[in-house]
Amino acid sequence: MSSQLRNVMKIVKPITVMEGAGVRLKRSIATSTLDHVDPFLLFDHFGSKNPADYIKGFPMHPHRGIETVTYMISGHVNHKDSIGNSGSITDGDVQWMTSGRGIMHEEMPRPHEDEMVGFQLWVNLPARLKMTGPRYQNITSDQIPEIRHEDGAKIRVIAGEVDGVRGPVREIVADPTYLDISVPSNGTFSQSIERGHAAFAYLFEGEGLFEAGDAEAVKPIPHPRLIVLGDGDRVSVRAADQGVRFLLVSGKPLNEPIARWGPFVMNTRAEIEQALQDLKNGTFIKEG
Ligand code: FE
Repeated sequence: MSSQLRNVMKIVKPITVMEGAGVRLKRSIATSTLDHVDPFLLFDHFGSKNPADYIKGFPMHPHRGIETVTYMISGHVNHKDSIGNSGSITDGDVQWMTSGRGIMHEEMPRPHEDEMVGFQLWVNLPARLKMTGPRYQNITSDQIPEIRHEDGAKIRVIAGEVDGVRGPVREIVADPTYLDISVPSNGTFSQSIERGHAAFAYLFEGEGLFEAGDAEAVKPIPHPRLIVLGDGDRVSVRAADQGVRFLLVSGKPLNEPIARWGPFVMNTRAEIEQALQDLKNGTFIKEG
Protein backbone atom coordinates (compact mmCIF):
# COMPACT_ATOMS: atom_id res chain seq x y z
CA MET A 1 0.00 0.00 0.00
CA SER A 2 1.39 3.37 -0.92
CA SER A 3 1.70 5.96 1.81
CA GLN A 4 -0.41 9.06 1.54
CA LEU A 5 0.96 12.52 2.22
CA ARG A 6 -1.10 14.68 4.54
CA ASN A 7 -2.64 17.78 2.95
CA VAL A 8 -2.72 21.25 4.42
CA MET A 9 -6.33 21.61 5.63
CA LYS A 10 -6.15 25.01 7.26
CA ILE A 11 -3.54 27.75 7.73
CA VAL A 12 -4.13 29.82 10.86
CA LYS A 13 -2.53 33.17 11.55
CA PRO A 14 -2.27 33.53 15.34
CA ILE A 15 -4.16 36.31 17.08
CA THR A 16 -2.69 38.41 19.89
CA VAL A 17 -4.36 37.87 23.28
CA MET A 18 -3.65 38.93 26.85
CA GLU A 19 -3.63 36.08 29.38
CA GLY A 20 -2.75 35.52 33.03
CA ALA A 21 -1.97 38.77 34.82
CA GLY A 22 -1.19 40.50 31.51
CA VAL A 23 0.94 38.34 29.25
CA ARG A 24 0.84 39.17 25.56
CA LEU A 25 0.86 36.04 23.46
CA LYS A 26 -0.02 34.63 20.07
CA ARG A 27 -2.89 32.14 20.15
CA SER A 28 -3.80 29.83 17.30
CA ILE A 29 -5.95 27.10 18.91
CA ALA A 30 -8.85 28.12 21.21
CA THR A 31 -9.95 31.06 19.07
CA SER A 32 -13.11 31.82 17.12
CA THR A 33 -11.46 30.48 13.93
CA LEU A 34 -10.10 27.28 15.46
CA ASP A 35 -11.70 26.07 18.69
CA HIS A 36 -9.74 22.82 18.95
CA VAL A 37 -7.93 20.14 16.98
CA ASP A 38 -9.12 17.10 18.96
CA PRO A 39 -7.37 16.15 21.31
CA PHE A 40 -5.60 19.56 21.34
CA LEU A 41 -7.54 22.33 23.06
CA LEU A 42 -5.26 25.35 23.02
CA PHE A 43 -1.97 26.48 21.52
CA ASP A 44 -0.13 29.62 22.63
CA HIS A 45 3.20 31.08 21.53
CA PHE A 46 5.04 33.51 23.78
CA GLY A 47 7.68 35.41 21.91
CA SER A 48 8.96 38.80 22.90
CA LYS A 49 12.14 40.77 23.43
CA ASN A 50 10.29 43.05 25.84
CA PRO A 51 9.89 41.72 29.43
CA ALA A 52 6.83 44.01 29.85
CA ASP A 53 5.00 41.59 27.51
CA TYR A 54 5.41 38.62 29.87
CA ILE A 55 6.78 39.61 33.30
CA LYS A 56 3.37 39.72 35.02
CA GLY A 57 3.12 35.99 34.36
CA PHE A 58 0.45 33.53 35.37
CA PRO A 59 -0.10 33.74 39.16
CA MET A 60 -1.76 30.84 41.08
CA HIS A 61 -4.63 29.40 39.05
CA PRO A 62 -6.45 26.09 38.84
CA HIS A 63 -6.74 23.47 36.09
CA ARG A 64 -8.99 20.45 35.78
CA GLY A 65 -9.56 17.85 33.08
CA ILE A 66 -6.53 18.54 30.87
CA GLU A 67 -2.77 18.36 30.41
CA THR A 68 -0.69 21.49 29.86
CA VAL A 69 2.60 21.21 28.01
CA THR A 70 5.13 24.03 28.29
CA TYR A 71 8.14 24.06 25.99
CA MET A 72 10.69 26.83 26.39
CA ILE A 73 12.98 27.54 23.46
CA SER A 74 14.60 30.46 25.19
CA GLY A 75 13.71 31.98 28.53
CA HIS A 76 13.18 31.19 32.19
CA VAL A 77 9.88 30.45 33.93
CA ASN A 78 9.62 29.73 37.66
CA HIS A 79 6.80 27.38 38.59
CA LYS A 80 5.20 26.09 41.76
CA ASP A 81 2.16 23.85 42.27
CA SER A 82 -0.24 22.38 44.83
CA ILE A 83 1.27 18.88 44.60
CA GLY A 84 4.60 20.10 45.95
CA ASN A 85 6.61 20.71 42.79
CA SER A 86 8.63 23.84 42.26
CA GLY A 87 11.48 24.75 40.00
CA SER A 88 12.17 26.42 36.74
CA ILE A 89 11.71 25.71 33.08
CA THR A 90 14.58 27.15 31.06
CA ASP A 91 16.07 27.00 27.55
CA GLY A 92 15.01 23.76 25.87
CA ASP A 93 13.10 22.26 28.85
CA VAL A 94 9.61 20.77 28.77
CA GLN A 95 7.00 20.42 31.48
CA TRP A 96 4.17 17.98 30.76
CA MET A 97 1.58 18.56 33.47
CA THR A 98 -1.48 16.36 33.92
CA SER A 99 -3.97 18.32 35.98
CA GLY A 100 -6.47 15.48 36.37
CA ARG A 101 -9.10 16.38 39.01
CA GLY A 102 -7.25 19.45 40.14
CA ILE A 103 -4.02 21.32 40.43
CA MET A 104 -3.22 24.91 41.38
CA HIS A 105 -0.05 26.32 39.93
CA GLU A 106 1.80 29.48 39.02
CA GLU A 107 4.02 30.09 36.02
CA MET A 108 6.14 33.23 36.42
CA PRO A 109 8.62 34.24 33.69
CA ARG A 110 11.84 36.00 34.67
CA PRO A 111 13.34 38.79 32.58
CA HIS A 112 15.50 37.33 29.86
CA GLU A 113 18.28 39.16 28.05
CA ASP A 114 17.42 37.53 24.71
CA GLU A 115 14.03 37.15 23.11
CA MET A 116 11.81 34.91 25.20
CA VAL A 117 10.33 32.13 23.08
CA GLY A 118 8.08 29.38 24.37
CA PHE A 119 4.88 27.47 23.75
CA GLN A 120 1.99 26.08 25.71
CA LEU A 121 -0.22 23.31 24.40
CA TRP A 122 -3.32 21.91 26.12
CA VAL A 123 -4.08 18.24 25.57
CA ASN A 124 -7.49 16.88 26.48
CA LEU A 125 -8.01 13.99 28.88
CA PRO A 126 -10.69 11.37 28.16
CA ALA A 127 -13.77 11.27 30.45
CA ARG A 128 -12.36 8.30 32.36
CA LEU A 129 -9.19 10.22 33.30
CA LYS A 130 -10.47 13.75 33.87
CA MET A 131 -10.61 13.15 37.63
CA THR A 132 -7.35 11.18 37.87
CA GLY A 133 -4.64 12.29 40.32
CA PRO A 134 -2.49 15.22 39.18
CA ARG A 135 1.11 14.52 38.12
CA TYR A 136 3.80 16.04 36.04
CA GLN A 137 6.88 15.16 34.03
CA ASN A 138 9.68 17.67 34.15
CA ILE A 139 12.09 17.14 31.29
CA THR A 140 15.33 19.05 31.09
CA SER A 141 16.84 20.00 27.76
CA ASP A 142 19.68 17.46 28.06
CA GLN A 143 17.14 14.60 28.29
CA ILE A 144 15.68 15.44 24.90
CA PRO A 145 17.39 13.52 22.09
CA GLU A 146 18.47 15.53 19.07
CA ILE A 147 18.71 13.84 15.68
CA ARG A 148 20.71 15.27 12.81
CA HIS A 149 20.06 14.30 9.22
CA GLU A 150 22.71 14.39 6.48
CA ASP A 151 21.10 17.40 4.78
CA GLY A 152 21.36 19.39 8.01
CA ALA A 153 17.84 18.95 9.42
CA LYS A 154 17.83 18.87 13.23
CA ILE A 155 15.01 17.22 15.18
CA ARG A 156 14.46 17.42 18.94
CA VAL A 157 12.24 14.49 19.98
CA ILE A 158 10.12 15.54 22.95
CA ALA A 159 7.44 12.88 22.50
CA GLY A 160 6.96 10.17 19.90
CA GLU A 161 9.60 8.50 17.75
CA VAL A 162 11.89 9.57 14.90
CA ASP A 163 14.37 7.18 13.22
CA GLY A 164 13.87 4.70 16.08
CA VAL A 165 14.69 7.32 18.74
CA ARG A 166 11.96 7.85 21.32
CA GLY A 167 11.30 11.07 23.18
CA PRO A 168 11.34 11.19 27.01
CA VAL A 169 7.63 12.03 27.53
CA ARG A 170 5.88 8.75 28.31
CA GLU A 171 2.52 7.31 29.36
CA ILE A 172 0.35 10.04 27.90
CA VAL A 173 -3.05 8.77 26.86
CA ALA A 174 -3.17 10.84 23.63
CA ASP A 175 -0.12 8.90 22.39
CA PRO A 176 1.42 12.22 21.30
CA THR A 177 4.23 13.14 18.98
CA TYR A 178 5.89 16.48 19.77
CA LEU A 179 8.91 17.41 17.65
CA ASP A 180 10.93 20.60 17.24
CA ILE A 181 12.33 20.56 13.71
CA SER A 182 14.87 22.90 12.09
CA VAL A 183 15.47 22.48 8.36
CA PRO A 184 18.20 24.52 6.64
CA SER A 185 17.73 26.39 3.38
CA ASN A 186 16.07 24.19 0.73
CA GLY A 187 16.40 21.04 2.86
CA THR A 188 13.51 18.63 3.37
CA PHE A 189 12.03 16.71 6.26
CA SER A 190 9.59 13.83 6.11
CA GLN A 191 7.97 12.04 9.02
CA SER A 192 5.37 9.32 9.34
CA ILE A 193 2.34 10.12 11.48
CA GLU A 194 -0.10 7.43 12.46
CA ARG A 195 -3.20 7.45 10.25
CA GLY A 196 -6.25 8.68 12.16
CA HIS A 197 -4.23 10.85 14.52
CA ALA A 198 -4.85 14.60 14.46
CA ALA A 199 -1.77 16.60 13.48
CA PHE A 200 -0.64 20.18 13.19
CA ALA A 201 2.57 22.06 12.55
CA TYR A 202 3.48 25.42 14.04
CA LEU A 203 5.95 27.47 12.00
CA PHE A 204 7.86 29.96 14.13
CA GLU A 205 11.00 30.73 12.10
CA GLY A 206 11.53 31.07 8.36
CA GLU A 207 9.23 29.66 5.69
CA GLY A 208 8.24 26.15 4.70
CA LEU A 209 6.42 24.31 1.93
CA PHE A 210 4.15 21.45 2.91
CA GLU A 211 4.28 18.93 0.12
CA ALA A 212 1.00 17.16 -0.46
CA GLY A 213 -0.47 14.92 -3.15
CA ASP A 214 -0.97 17.77 -5.63
CA ALA A 215 2.49 19.35 -5.50
CA GLU A 216 1.52 22.27 -7.82
CA ALA A 217 -0.66 23.87 -5.17
CA VAL A 218 2.22 24.10 -2.73
CA LYS A 219 3.24 27.62 -1.73
CA PRO A 220 5.68 28.74 0.95
CA ILE A 221 4.01 29.40 4.29
CA PRO A 222 5.54 32.19 6.39
CA HIS A 223 5.83 32.27 10.22
CA PRO A 224 4.08 32.47 12.57
CA ARG A 225 1.37 30.12 11.31
CA LEU A 226 -0.38 27.02 12.58
CA ILE A 227 -1.06 24.45 9.89
CA VAL A 228 -3.75 21.85 10.46
CA LEU A 229 -2.94 18.70 8.52
CA GLY A 230 -5.47 16.35 6.96
CA ASP A 231 -5.37 12.59 7.49
CA GLY A 232 -2.69 10.44 5.87
CA ASP A 233 0.49 8.58 6.72
CA ARG A 234 3.26 11.14 6.30
CA VAL A 235 4.08 14.79 6.34
CA SER A 236 6.78 16.27 4.13
CA VAL A 237 8.16 19.78 4.51
CA ARG A 238 10.66 21.65 2.39
CA ALA A 239 12.42 24.72 3.72
CA ALA A 240 12.41 27.92 1.68
CA ASP A 241 15.60 29.96 1.15
CA GLN A 242 15.98 31.13 4.74
CA GLY A 243 15.27 27.71 6.28
CA VAL A 244 12.36 26.83 8.52
CA ARG A 245 11.77 25.86 12.14
CA PHE A 246 8.49 24.36 13.29
CA LEU A 247 6.85 22.14 15.86
CA LEU A 248 5.11 19.01 14.63
CA VAL A 249 2.44 17.75 17.00
CA SER A 250 0.07 14.81 16.64
CA GLY A 251 -2.20 12.74 18.87
CA LYS A 252 -5.17 10.44 19.03
CA PRO A 253 -8.56 12.20 18.90
CA LEU A 254 -10.97 11.54 21.78
CA ASN A 255 -14.26 12.22 19.97
CA GLU A 256 -15.93 13.24 23.23
CA PRO A 257 -18.08 16.27 24.04
CA ILE A 258 -16.10 19.33 25.18
CA ALA A 259 -17.34 21.73 27.84
CA ARG A 260 -14.82 24.45 28.59
CA TRP A 261 -14.60 27.30 31.01
CA GLY A 262 -11.24 29.06 31.27
CA PRO A 263 -8.75 26.64 32.86
CA PHE A 264 -11.26 23.75 33.13
CA VAL A 265 -12.17 21.44 30.28
CA MET A 266 -14.75 18.75 31.03
CA ASN A 267 -17.40 16.82 29.09
CA THR A 268 -20.53 18.51 30.45
CA ARG A 269 -21.71 21.87 31.76
CA ALA A 270 -22.59 20.21 35.09
CA GLU A 271 -18.98 19.10 35.52
CA ILE A 272 -17.79 22.67 34.93
CA GLU A 273 -20.24 23.91 37.55
CA GLN A 274 -18.95 21.25 39.93
CA ALA A 275 -15.37 22.49 39.39
CA LEU A 276 -16.44 26.08 40.16
CA GLN A 277 -18.33 24.86 43.23
CA ASP A 278 -15.29 22.87 44.46
CA LEU A 279 -13.15 25.95 44.02
CA LYS A 280 -15.60 28.04 46.03
CA ASN A 281 -15.93 25.41 48.79
CA GLY A 282 -12.19 24.91 49.11
CA THR A 283 -12.52 21.26 48.05
CA PHE A 284 -10.89 21.67 44.63
CA ILE A 285 -7.55 20.27 45.80
CA LYS A 286 -8.12 16.85 47.33
CA GLU A 287 -5.43 15.15 49.40
CA GLY A 288 -4.25 11.65 48.57
FE1 FE B 1 -1.62 27.01 33.92
